[in-house]
Amino acid sequence: MLVTRFAPSPTGYLHLGHAAAALFAWRRARAAGGRFLLRLEDIDPTRCTPAFADAILEDLAWLGLDWDGEVRVQSAHLPDYRAALDRLHAGGLLYPCFCTRADIAREVARSASAPHGPDGALYPGICRHLPQAQRARRIAAGTPHALRLDMQRAAFSAGSLTCHEEGHGILPCNPAQFGDIVLARKDAPASYHLCATHDDALQGVTLVTRGADLQPATMLHRLLQALLGWPEPHYAHHPLRLAPDGKRLSKRDGATTLRALRAAGLRPQDLIAHLDGDTPINRI
Ligand code: GLU
Repeated sequence: MLVTRFAPSPTGYLHLGHAAAALFAWRRARAAGGRFLLRLEDIDPTRCTPAFADAILEDLAWLGLDWDGEVRVQSAHLPDYRAALDRLHAGGLLYPCFCTRADIAREVARSASAPHGPDGALYPGICRHLPQAQRARRIAAGTPHALRLDMQRAAFSAGSLTCHEEGHGILPCNPAQFGDIVLARKDAPASYHLCATHDDALQGVTLVTRGADLQPATMLHRLLQALLGWPEPHYAHHPLRLAPDGKRLSKRDGATTLRALRAAGLRPQDLIAHLDGDTPINRI
């Protein structure tokens, strides 16, 4: 059975881009007689609020999109993510990183040819080989630390990887280009990559649909799936909707939130027609 999901983070109100993404996933599931799931990726306590979470449910309902089963709220499942981190740790694939942003920036600046990946400069490895006793001492002293994936070991352990991208077939994945990514932040118990991949597996998602900006992240998700023995879904990355000035839509573009459109008198069917490219929105 085809299972899709929409997995917004409640860091703001949903905008047109979210509506398009939710509609895409909902239609794929409904057309196939499958399931459409809703998940709130609220793992980052510094940016997510319950008010935005409530607004997401309300806006989707206004749009006429129904979801199957309970909404999964990630912040209510921290032990699940901890257990996945523990498994990676037991396999020798994680290490604590005590660096501040400034430590990393300084080290990157020192090296004339610091390697870069899809998300910018790679972590220069400062904490990768700290002696075990020093790690234990700093953790016992309460020094804040993140947990990083030892990418070289992880990539070696996973072997060669591919992903199945709709419309493109099987593509090679090279997660090593991201370097030692953070899987648990100092200020958030687990990263988006870990939680999203965990939940897609747990919830039996068979087709991950999301914006094209997240396509490179799929390589990391395939790596985690291989390391943790999770099933491999198919992926469909859709083009991002752009603001009229050609820039990426963001939650900061208040005027394009579903709330603002609704307050301006737009009906859900008008919005859907607009997303389908049939009509301009001329009421705002
Ligand atoms: N929470 C992510 C976001 O809002 C969703 C990413 C995904 O669909 O995997 O961008």
